[in-house]
Amino acid sequence: MPLSNMAVRDIETVIHPYTNLARHREVGPLILNEGRGIYLYDDTGKRYIEGMAGLWCTALGYGNQEIAEAGAEALRKVSFTHAFGGKSHDGVIELSEKLKEIAPCPASKVLFGTSGSEANDMQIKLSWYYNNARGKVSKKKIISRIRAYHGVTIASASLTGLPWVHNDFDLPIANILHTSCPHYYRYGQDGETEEQFAARMAQDLEDMILREGPDTIAAFIGEPLMGAGGVLLPPKGYWEKVNAILAKYDIRFIADEVICGFGRTGNWFGTTTFGMKPDSISMAKAITSAYFPLSALTVEEDLYQAMLDESRKLGTFGHGYTYTAHPVGCAISLKTIEIYQRDKIMEHAAKMSPVFQMRLNKLADHPMVGEARGVGLIGAVELVADKATKRPFDPKKMVGAATVNALQEMGLIVRNIQDSVALCPPLVITTDEIHEMFDIFEKGLDQMEAWAR
Ligand code: PLP
Repeated sequence: MPLSNMAVRDIETVIHPYTNLARHREVGPLILNEGRGIYLYDDTGKRYIEGMAGLWCTALGYGNQEIAEAGAEALRKVSFTHAFGGKSHDGVIELSEKLKEIAPCPASKVLFGTSGSEANDMQIKLSWYYNNARGKVSKKKIISRIRAYHGVTIASASLTGLPWVHNDFDLPIANILHTSCPHYYRYGQDGETEEQFAARMAQDLEDMILREGPDTIAAFIGEPLMGAGGVLLPPKGYWEKVNAILAKYDIRFIADEVICGFGRTGNWFGTTTFGMKPDSISMAKAITSAYFPLSALTVEEDLYQAMLDESRKLGTFGHGYTYTAHPVGCAISLKTIEIYQRDKIMEHAAKMSPVFQMRLNKLADHPMVGEARGVGLIGAVELVADKATKRPFDPKKMVGAATVNALQEMGLIVRNIQDSVALCPPLVITTDEIHEMFDIFEKGLDQMEAWAR
């Protein structure tokens, strides 16, 4: 099909993130200008199920008029105020109180940004600042994990443990370490139980800490489950062991709740689902159901006291974005959280989860599926050439990407991470819509089966 006029204009003007820019010149964009509920519509009027909630973020789906109105009202009232120099507004005060109330960790204060990357970038800065304030000037390294995703700023991309985020960007920066990826299906050894695997992963972490020297490690960051690395669930007992190791060596524990936060795993936070004990959490995405770019992190009391000392010494807390605590973002986040609570969205997601997981698990019987894994309303299937040996497809075949393209043709938007295909629909999805989504998914896999062999 010839490319539309808008598609040609896109190719000539837009740089697309996470896109093969050379291939994009041939295939052009998918232009999506409208959305309602869990559905998006392209410029020809074709309907798609948004099976990824955008980028794991549109928890309440599209076209929520209450949120739109809350944003419009905030814009009409005061289009911009900031938080520098002690300035404030009702929205940031109320939202900070609300986030402190629902946070799954002891939170003293809240600091805002506009993206998940910024939140994690700030986490690194604050971990360094904290240790300078308390005289531990060598305690600066940050431990992340292979296949983690924490963002794309220079520092947060360094935390990310995926090669395509580092390659030819001269990343990662110094003092960021990556410990083993706790994905049992891929990295579990023959005869090793899930619990033994979890213990080995925790031991790898402790070995790294001891090798580097505990006095050189400032913080550890981890997603409750690894989202953009392929929806990798922690093996049984993993977080319990990691909690203990981090506490033992006085290492600040940051939980990256950017995907898991606000209901994705069946609880408000993934931290609760998996029994993590972080000192601080990073939040973004569903904090506004993606109706506005906003992120936040919680500041624990110890860190806050250290920040107070630094202000006394240096004269100011020398950090802040123009859009820190933007009033429109705060109003939209408050309305989003109000809807989550009023309409019992977390309960709805928890109720839908067994239907979603039942259909997901059924995919494990498909000849192309090596593993189907998930929790709450998030999951993935890992496509393999040989189920018995777990042998992957030849990467050159790009089976995952081809599957996603085929499903898109069939009206379902999902996302692949190499040969894992992820599903993460809006939390407001209904039983019928879950079945509709998986019916398409199954048909797509059947179609791919013939192609891939
Ligand atoms: N942390 C996690 C767990 C994420 O999944 C993402 C994005 O997908 C980020 C951080 C980065 O967030 P953003 O894309 O808003 O910078």
